[in-house]
Amino acid sequence: MDQKELWQAVLAQIQLQISPPNFATWFKSTQIVSQENGFIFVSVPNSFTKEWLEQKYNKAIFKILYNLNRGIKGVKYEVEKSGLQPLKKFPIYSPVPSKQLDFQDLKVEGDTGLNSRYTFDNFLVGDFNELAHAAGCAVTQDPGKVYNPLFIYGGVGLGKTHLLQAIGNEVIKASNKKVRYVPTEKFVSRVISAIRNHKIEEFKAAYQKIDVLIIDDIQFLTGKEKTQEEFFYIFNSLYEKNKQIILSSDRPPNAIPALTERLQSRFGGGMITDISLPSLEARIAILKNKCDEKKASLPDDVLEYVSSNIKKNIRELEGALNTLIAYQKINDSEIDIKTTKNLLRNIISSSNKIINAKKIIHSVADFYDLKEKDLISSSRKREIVLPRQIAMYLLRQELKASYPFIGRKLGGKDHTTAIYACEKISKEIEKNENLTEEIELIKQRVLCG
Ligand code: ADP
Ligand code: MG
Repeated sequence: MDQKELWQAVLAQIQLQISPPNFATWFKSTQIVSQENGFIFVSVPNSFTKEWLEQKYNKAIFKILYNLNRGIKGVKYEVEKSGLQPLKKFPIYSPVPSKQLDFQDLKVEGDTGLNSRYTFDNFLVGDFNELAHAAGCAVTQDPGKVYNPLFIYGGVGLGKTHLLQAIGNEVIKASNKKVRYVPTEKFVSRVISAIRNHKIEEFKAAYQKIDVLIIDDIQFLTGKEKTQEEFFYIFNSLYEKNKQIILSSDRPPNAIPALTERLQSRFGGGMITDISLPSLEARIAILKNKCDEKKASLPDDVLEYVSSNIKKNIRELEGALNTLIAYQKINDSEIDIKTTKNLLRNIISSSNKIINAKKIIHSVADFYDLKEKDLISSSRKREIVLPRQIAMYLLRQELKASYPFIGRKLGGKDHTTAIYACEKISKEIEKNENLTEEIELIKQRVLCG
């Protein structure tokens, strides 16, 4: 295995541990330049990155390298000598030189925002995503006509971005329609800067030329009123012209907090479909497909181990696979189950994370866009009381916690309050489908987040 492959193996694992913007900021333009006496020398674009990697990520980087090769003693970071290679800073979603394979995920073409790596061909279809896939295909064949808007929701790492991008790529292949993919965070920051520069009218005018507008992770519009207003305008004007709008979110429209009612009803006006968790068979199939794609093969028991332990996130499945393939290449031999377990210790234990009270409270607060301290306050406001009761319910369900414990964890409430909350939510779930679904989504977050 060469240095490049070794570094890719590190990146594959790091990528699972930190957010995409952080990953792009700190790991872009990094590479292994040499290995000497057990030390790995990594070149970085500037001294700021050097400091950051040394202080924040060195431990994680070293651990991964050490797991791959016990001979490694340490990692040193060196600022790339200027003059040899120009120091370039690439904004997260803009084009990156193609030879930097490590950043495939961030590479997009032209101003469409699309990345050609996401296609229908490499998107595996199973029970868990069948409907979303079918709706996506229908939209591709007749944009703006069948399902408008198309709203796809589901947990982290389950293929929303892949599907959205595949739709965009397919439309471009089949027609000369103008497609634009924009992550919501990016949309928000563009609106803000357009307002600041008095260019909001030009901004909106530019969107009028688009035939297929794809906005990813729309839950990030939460609480951004001004942006919601501008988006509402763009949405309506495209919609009226029968232009296709495709949206994704980690939850259904009616569960996005602080989303104006008019947007909520717009989002629900077309087709809403979800991507759920892949079955064991689907997970094995995904792994096998990806092995073929990468022209690698892993023993059956290894594939089985991976797919039965990583259940909730396809990105994690991929990350695990990359790690194992890298190991096989380094050692030039077939990996066994014992080594697999060792290499994947981190990913798998974080995947089957131990649930604790803190995590539940945090996930509930996060889901409803509240602060944890509101949740444990004594406020009687409805928008706080219900989430608090849900947190109590989840503590009981997931941890089998005692009522006095639950009361204490939520800011010293009496155990009778906890009993009341658990009973109320249990009853409510039976007749309120939305609530059931919200609680499911929160549970997924507790496990994944
Ligand atoms: P999300 O946007 O829902 O968080 P992504 O679309 O980013 O998830 O998917 C995470 C990773 O898993 C990507 O690398 C993607 O290519 C892969 N992936 C997701 N779903 C599938 C699928 N059905 N078939 C093949 N790969 C998939
Ligand atoms: Mg995504």
